[in-house]
Formats: sequence, C-alpha cells, structure tokens
Amino acid sequence: MTKIAFIGLGNMGGPMAKNLVAAGHAVTGFDLVPENLSRAAEDGVTAAPSAAAAVADADVVITMLPAGQHVRAVYGGDQGIIGQAPAGALLIDCSTIDVESARAVHEAADAAGYLMLDAPVSGGVAGAAGGTLTFMVGGSEAAFEKGKAFFDIMGRTVVHAGGPGVGQAAKVCNNMILGITMIGISEAFTLGEKLGLSPQKLFDISSKASGSCWAMLNHVPVAGLVETAAANRDFKPGFATEMMHKDLKLSQAAAASVGAATPLGAQATALYTMHVNQGNGSLDYSSIIKMLDKN
Ligand code: NAD
Repeated sequence: MTKIAFIGLGNMGGPMAKNLVAAGHAVTGFDLVPENLSRAAEDGVTAAPSAAAAVADADVVITMLPAGQHVRAVYGGDQGIIGQAPAGALLIDCSTIDVESARAVHEAADAAGYLMLDAPVSGGVAGAAGGTLTFMVGGSEAAFEKGKAFFDIMGRTVVHAGGPGVGQAAKVCNNMILGITMIGISEAFTLGEKLGLSPQKLFDISSKASGSCWAMLNHVPVAGLVETAAANRDFKPGFATEMMHKDLKLSQAAAASVGAATPLGAQATALYTMHVNQGNGSLDYSSIIKMLDKN
C-alpha cells in the first residue's frame, strides 16, 4: 500500500483516484470544488482541506488539473506541492499542459530534490473510469521506474516518451495529427457526397485503401457507418471540440517555441477556433464536418 495524494478530482481525476483506491492504495485528495471532493470521498478517497495538507504525508503525488497556470500554481508558492510534499515523494502531473510549463515545474521539482514525471493521458473519461488510459510519460528513467506501477493501475498502455516535457510533446503531436486528419476525412466525405458517391461506398473503399486511418475507422463523422462514431448520437462527445481546440492551441504554442513549421496544424487550429466560436465547443470534435456542410 502506497500513500498517494491526488489533487484535481474532476471528470478525469475522480475516476483515476477511484481506481487507485480499488487497487488497495491509501489515497488522500483535494479539489477546489467541494462537490468533486465529496464525490471522491464516497469513492474511498480521504478528503483533505488543502493541497498542502493532502501531500504532507504522501509517497506519490498525482495532479490532474485543467491547464498550465493551475499546475504552476499548485506546485509552486509557499503552500505548493514542491516544498510541502515529503522529501523523496514522486511527483506526477497527468494534466494536459503546455510543454514550457511542464518543463518549468520539472526544473523546480528537480532543484528541490524531487523525482517528477509529466504524464498526460488519452482515452477520455471512459478510459479513466475503466482504467484503460494511455499514458505518455516524460522524465528520468529512475522516476519512470518508480511511477510505472501506478500508471499500470490507471491505464493499459504506458510509454516512456523521453525526458522532462516530452510526455506533453507526445500528447500535442498525437492530437495535432488527429485534428488535421478529422478535417481531411470531413472534406472527403462532404466532397464525395456532392459528387454522387454515397458515404457508405466511400467508407467501404477508403477504410480498406490508402486513405484509411484510426479516426476514420473509429470516429467517421457520418452517421450509420461505424458503431463508435459520435455522428450516430448527434455528435454527443466522445472527445469534445473544446478539448481538441485546447490541444491544437498547445501544439501551436509548442511549435512557436521551437520554430517548427506546422501549417496544417495552424489551419486546423483556426478551423476549430471558428467551430468553438460558433457554439459547438461541447459537441464531439468530429462535428467539424458541420463547418463544411450545413446539411
Ligand atoms: P475537470 O475540469 O473536470 O477537472 C479539473 C479539476 O481540477 C476540477 O475539479 C477543478 O476544480 C480542479 N482544480 C483546479 N484548480 C485546482 C486547484 N488549484 N486545486 C485543486 N483542484 C483544482 O477537467 P478534466 O476533464 O478532469 O481534465 C483534466 C485534465 O485532463 C485537463 O488537462 C484535460 O485537458 C486533460 N484531459 C481530459 C480528457 C477528457 O476527456 N476530459 C481527456 C484527456 C486529457
């Protein structure tokens, strides 16, 4: 049994903490939202009055927070995890954040003598609940070896991607591929239909031909073709447009920070920004097809 502190018990963190409890670990948690904290307590998490109190006695600290500024705030400052967690505690940030913030927090943790990992996930709320997340992990080999057992409880696929911040790099690169790909699929299905090619026939051909890809096989944006597609459920997510938008913006910040050319990533970001601004943020990301075809 390991003493784990879990900070950020929202849609993802709540079920992840629940799985750690179910595996026999002593989990103490904190969240700014009282309802999230009490829901976690019902799942066996010991509720703490603050992040500092939650980590005071921890062997492992896991955070699952919205964005870079929250992660910097929770790790830094007088009452931050860095300083408040016992010496020797392993720090793991599972939030999806910008590479720059991830590296800044790694550096501060390292300077204070802690081992740290950035370990963003894919798999969504269903993956968090089912313990089937994919973890993309950045940090030292020693930190990864210490953390692996906990990733194995919360996830199914765990990849040590590289050094500090490289887990976040993997996440933004992967989701940039997904965003660009979904727009390409949407264009092809819209064009095909206007040319008299039925979506079913295009799917039958392309899903077995060189145009095939994971997004088409699982999330094709036309109803009636693939069981798992959000298009069958009026684009109820799934993976929300606002999440895709966040990840694409992170990809562009990362690209700018190293001078990488990502012209299609930039275009995908602009299209998803328009889609969000038109009120579609809570729909599945595959609803981007509506930008192209209002029918
Ligand atoms: P969420 O908003 O449901 O949960 C975040 C939680 O952090 C909230 O409960 C909030 O109250 C808490 N929080 C914020 N600041 C805090 C602080 N200072 N101290 C303590 N608690 C604080 O978000 P989520 O959907 O659980 O996502 C969490 C992270 O996981 C995000 O970075 C997101 O991009 C990433 N992610 C989400 C999904 C998904 O499908 N929801 C999938 C993959 C990755």
